[in-house]
Amino acid sequence: MQPVYIKTYKSGELRKKITQFKQILNDCTLCPRKCHVRRTDNELGLCKTGRLAQVASFDLHFGEESPLVGKGGSGAIFFAHCNLGCVFCQNYSISLSDTKFQEVYPNQLAFIMLELQKKGAENINFVTPSHVVAQVVEALPEAIEQGLNLPLVYNTSSYDSLNTLKLLDGVIDIYLADVKFFSPKHSKKYTRATDYPEVAMQAIQEMYAQVGGIVLDARGLAQKGLMVRHLLMPGEIADTDKWLEFLHEHKMHDVYLNIMDQYHPAGRADEFPELMDKITYTQWEKAVTKAQKMGFKYIDPGSSRIFNLLF
Ligand code: SF4
Repeated sequence: MQPVYIKTYKSGELRKKITQFKQILNDCTLCPRKCHVRRTDNELGLCKTGRLAQVASFDLHFGEESPLVGKGGSGAIFFAHCNLGCVFCQNYSISLSDTKFQEVYPNQLAFIMLELQKKGAENINFVTPSHVVAQVVEALPEAIEQGLNLPLVYNTSSYDSLNTLKLLDGVIDIYLADVKFFSPKHSKKYTRATDYPEVAMQAIQEMYAQVGGIVLDARGLAQKGLMVRHLLMPGEIADTDKWLEFLHEHKMHDVYLNIMDQYHPAGRADEFPELMDKITYTQWEKAVTKAQKMGFKYIDPGSSRIFNLLF
């Protein structure tokens, strides 16, 4: 299956999208924070990222879901900083520090994609891209001209503006989307984004409308579609049942669903006693059983099977 962006590039649409993205950076509303800063002049908004994207690291990554890993690994590019900023972030030093990471010009970002492809990556996985998606798209023509032909994965918190997502139609092959909080009270407390639930619900529907359910090739590798991640959290903080019901009501049973049990307190979690608890195997099993009963077809087997054997 040819990646979707090749056709968009050949038709000239990709260049038009790049022009629109550049305009957005002039008065930044790239994400729902709507900072209205002039990033083209390196003014900084909440994401602390100016005109150029900053890359914290890139490499073949074998810790993603198996349909993204295959033999070669997922070609992950970890962007520095973040537009959401969860207080319990496991990558706090990359996402929320004031450190300036390596800035990359579009040709350098294209080079990174091509290097990962050369090393055998099964896809290019943009990790935390919501605040640098304009820069990602800007780098694509050069990468395509030099032979990039892997599926593109947009690995997001789902705190994405609808306008930005619409511009990604025909660019992204696979959306790998977190769904975090369903309650504005919780999203306000832990991310200062009261509108997270509303934004994420809209974003998931848009992503699904663009790419549909997961499409796997003969090797079981994802080529296209929506993958949804939900991190179980202590107590009812993440409202797991409500997210499952949302996906069920919107008939998204063919998405790849990963109910993740790896929560551990990180970042500033110690400032919130309720975030210091652990996830139990029973909590994971209950959620997965519910998802199975609802008819989800592709549920990640998870690491809890190992957890179960150990305890
Ligand atoms: S991308 Fe950054 S500067 Fe732009 S609106 Fe979002 S947080 Fe603000």
